[in-house]
Amino acid sequence: MQSLLIEKVNYVLTQDQMPTSWYNIQADLPIQVPSLRHPKTGEVISPEEIKSLLPMALIKQEFSQERMIEIPEEVQRIYRQWRPSPLIRARRLEQALDTPAKIYYKYEGVSPSGSHKPNTAVPQVYYNKLEGVKRLVTETGAGQWGSSLAMACAFFGLDCGVYMVKVSYHQKPYRRALMEAYGARVVASPSNETDAGRAILSEHPDSTGSLGIAISEAVEVALQDVDTKLALGSVYNHVLMHQTVIGQEAMKQLELAGDYPDIIIGCTGGGSNFSGIAFPFIGAKLRGERDIRVIAVEPASCPSLTRGTYAYDFGDTSKLTPMVKMHTLGHSFIPAGIHAGGLRYHGMAPLVSHLMKLGQIEARAETQIRCFEAGIQFARAEGIVPAPEATHAVRATIDEALRCKESNQSKVILFNLCGHGHFDMQAYIDYMAGKLRDHEYSQEEVAMALAGLPSME
Ligand SMILES: *Cc1c(COP(=O)(O)O)cnc(C)c1O
Repeated sequence: MQSLLIEKVNYVLTQDQMPTSWYNIQADLPIQVPSLRHPKTGEVISPEEIKSLLPMALIKQEFSQERMIEIPEEVQRIYRQWRPSPLIRARRLEQALDTPAKIYYKYEGVSPSGSHKPNTAVPQVYYNKLEGVKRLVTETGAGQWGSSLAMACAFFGLDCGVYMVKVSYHQKPYRRALMEAYGARVVASPSNETDAGRAILSEHPDSTGSLGIAISEAVEVALQDVDTKLALGSVYNHVLMHQTVIGQEAMKQLELAGDYPDIIIGCTGGGSNFSGIAFPFIGAKLRGERDIRVIAVEPASCPSLTRGTYAYDFGDTSKLTPMVKMHTLGHSFIPAGIHAGGLRYHGMAPLVSHLMKLGQIEARAETQIRCFEAGIQFARAEGIVPAPEATHAVRATIDEALRCKESNQSKVILFNLCGHGHFDMQAYIDYMAGKLRDHEYSQEEVAMALAGLPSME
């Protein structure tokens, strides 16, 4: 009897209710996502041609049109340490905002490294291990991805090398320490260890780095050694697909709550946590089941979806990665050193860019001070300090909830709280000391994006 009366906050799934497959949105797209192209010839790339970078299992997933792809048992076993993750009704935030909207958040900060990133790090290392790879190299911005990959490599006994964007290397020493605690080797990028790094340093000795440069360094190292492959924490189709455990769980949890979202909100760097929560719902919409509004929120200083160009571009600065069609600010773009390091990528996942083109999602850009303000408001109501990246989703959620109040509409809002900010407290210290500055993407930077793009159809 009592269970009918209590006001529920946490919608708990049992471990056997965890999804056993990833959802591949490619199966439901009305128009296929544009193909990968060769970085030198511009021709459509075949799976064989990226074998030196990725294991075959992941390449197959990248190109797959199958709707559901089974999660290997060994990966599920590791997921079960922190999954299913909680879906929480933000009742105190609703009260603080005095909104008729219902706000739910999926909390991915419960993973050991504190974000959604292990959802893809674990299967990526698993498949590499199966194919005999000895070492993985990668890039990291804020260090969330690097620490998640380092952890997964420790689980499976692979070596891990991380090129960390220099500005973050200095801003976030605790993330670096965490990666090293897991056994990874961490190098500030641009470094003197690679041609790509040396080329940047000779032109810009004080370069603060970028994800594009760090990826170039990692790719160069992977191409030089047959036992070493590349791992990437976002953008690629298979990475987005691994994150769909988030949305599939949220769907079941909302069913327990007797609700369905009217609005889904996620922050976007490369697009993986956003896709993770939104794709299962967008898939249902594409199949004609239920309508929803989906909002991607990006930083005003690195606004690929709202102000970038939709065109073929390289994923890295040195033009080593395959070209993808995406919303881009240009592969040579170096964004301002804002604190949401995980959102400082020049491009957006091809699948997210494609869905934008198809009118399935909308995007907005927010400046960092308004985001931290929302992060603090959320922390005071809900107790969790959001990662700086996640404050972008919090900002948009609060704004939508306030809009509901004005129009007196009781909408259901679901957002992804993709990580906690415990390793990012310097950002909060700077915010509270009034030291943060907003940086908006300028017209000159827009022009630079256009100028640097490869010329092809
Ligand atoms: C990496 C990261 C992001 C940005 O990457 P997406 O692929 O867009 O999710 C956002 N938030 C957190 C907490 C991250 O670790």
